[in-house]
Amino acid sequence: MAGKKLTCLDCGQVNRVPEDKLTAGPKCGTCGAALMPGKAIEVDAATLAKAARNDDVPLVVDFWAPWCGPCRMMAPEFSKAAGELRGEARLVKLNTEAHPQPSAQHGIRGIPTMIEFTGGREKKRQSGAMPAGQIVGWVRG
Ligand code: ZN
Repeated sequence: MAGKKLTCLDCGQVNRVPEDKLTAGPKCGTCGAALMPGKAIEVDAATLAKAARNDDVPLVVDFWAPWCGPCRMMAPEFSKAAGELRGEARLVKLNTEAHPQPSAQHGIRGIPTMIEFTGGREKKRQSGAMPAGQIVGWVRG
């Protein structure tokens, strides 16, 4: 069966979506959640691990924490970028305070840090807060 693998950020089911349907509001076959929500979704460690391992569509993770001022400043920019990148990439947020294990696993030294995963591998990472336009440029670049 062809198609791009996308892990449901709600129930964790791995879906296959034809490439030309990525922009057509695809939904999870198991729970019906939007697979391309067009906004930043908060994930836990298990969902992040599964999506980073399986997804064929770029997964951009914002490692953040509530005590981090620059992270809070970047949050609305990251959300805006998620809307602009709908159908191209999924943007998710991992609260490193609530879920410390993934930042240790990926060697995160400072936050905010973004990592893009595609096809089970880390493609690139970037530290420091950025405005929406720069985030979009970085993901597309
Ligand atoms: Zn689902």
